[in-house]
Amino acid sequence: MRTMGTMPSGLSDSHIEVQALAREFAAAEIAPHAADWNARKHVPVDLLRRMGEIGLLAPTIPEQYGGPGLDATSLCLVVEEVARADAGTAVAIAVQAGLVASPLLRAGTDAQREQWLPRLATGEVLGCYALTEPDAGSDTAALRTRAVPDGDGWRITGAKQWISNGALAGVFVIFARTGGEGAGGISAFITRAGDGLAVGREIPKLGLHTSSTVELAFDDMPVAAGCMLGPEGEGLKLALATLDGGRITVAAQACGIAQAAIDLAVSYASARNAFGGPIARFQGVQFPIADVAAELEAARLLTLHAAALRDAGKPHGAAGAKAKLVASAVAVKAADVAVQTLGGYGYSGEYDAERLYRDAKITEIYEGTSQIQRLVIARDLFGDAAR
Ligand SMILES: Cc1cc2nc3c(=O)[nH]c(=O)nc-3n(C[C@H](O)[C@H](O)[C@H](O)COP(=O)(O)OP(=O)(O)OC[C@H]3O[C@@H](n4cnc5c(N)ncnc54)[C@H](O)[C@@H]3O)c2cc1C
Repeated sequence: MRTMGTMPSGLSDSHIEVQALAREFAAAEIAPHAADWNARKHVPVDLLRRMGEIGLLAPTIPEQYGGPGLDATSLCLVVEEVARADAGTAVAIAVQAGLVASPLLRAGTDAQREQWLPRLATGEVLGCYALTEPDAGSDTAALRTRAVPDGDGWRITGAKQWISNGALAGVFVIFARTGGEGAGGISAFITRAGDGLAVGREIPKLGLHTSSTVELAFDDMPVAAGCMLGPEGEGLKLALATLDGGRITVAAQACGIAQAAIDLAVSYASARNAFGGPIARFQGVQFPIADVAAELEAARLLTLHAAALRDAGKPHGAAGAKAKLVASAVAVKAADVAVQTLGGYGYSGEYDAERLYRDAKITEIYEGTSQIQRLVIARDLFGDAAR
């Protein structure tokens, strides 16, 4: 059984349309394969390209660059529906639209936009966002990858860790140090791969098995002139502004995982019999599901509120952090409730509950851990006193 979930009013007809398109696509093309793909650790690249062809891979790329030109609210609706079917597949959308197209639109030159956006829109090229390093995760300003001038271009040397889609990428957003220590010494680049790039092994992980995550090593990799993204020394600002938007899509992903967990718990409890009837008649089974259903609606409203602020061109950093903080906790709790509701079957690989349980956890970690979201919220509350 798939419950519809309750969507907030205030969505436009075009939002409802894109949500319906994503829901139908995910139900037909992703959900039936999700368990098998995850078990085989298969990254469905053909599917990603098909999503590009119908405008679901990077929905926010403007029409002038061959994209559907949809807003951040639509992006959230798409990510939630895809994550409801398979959280790992949703990562590709979050990266393509939220972490690669978004900084290009914010800081790219006309030439950079024209070179990459049409191909990102259709899925001809997949992108990745390479910020994190082995010794610089939450503390992004500590990154050590270095770019040194070489003629009109640059050469990049260093190591990046946990890069989603890094093994599949045709275009790389790379953050590297071009100046001294600290935040002001970092610049961003947008480039294709060059000699000196080594794509590391697939990093073994708890879940999200339909998403590829690798290390990248750059050994004097040449980067052509014209590939710096935004002004020199403003790379970290761009990285953080990008994450302000990206966190909203992670919140949407978390809502999708939570919705899938609730759908599963409701349908299983309605069909499973114990003590002479369905377990759904026990309040001990109903109430945890009722609690997370209420919490999910609150999380979804926070997510769509943050997206609406972004669409209105208003500051949305703290709102996105609140949405991600709350929605990721709801995803983890809802997946736990699903496992508990299914009892032993919840713990087995035969039902989706254990996959949801493993996938939910990542939403509390990437694009800023829950502690980092609290830090963003606290800085918004306290200003400089929190630094
Ligand atoms: C599956 C996956 C995909 C990813 N994809 C990408 C990607 O595509 N691109 C990319 O650049 N990165 C990516 N990441 C990296 C991810 O964003 C980082 O793992 C995350 O930001 C945390 O950094 P860290 O792992 O270095 O943890 P650390 O920063 O070492 O943190 C360790 C712990 O310390 C806590 N902590 C750290 N600082 C503070 C503080 N000031 N106050 C309170 N607590 C603190 C953290 O909350 C955490 O609990 C991905 C990670 C994973 C697991």
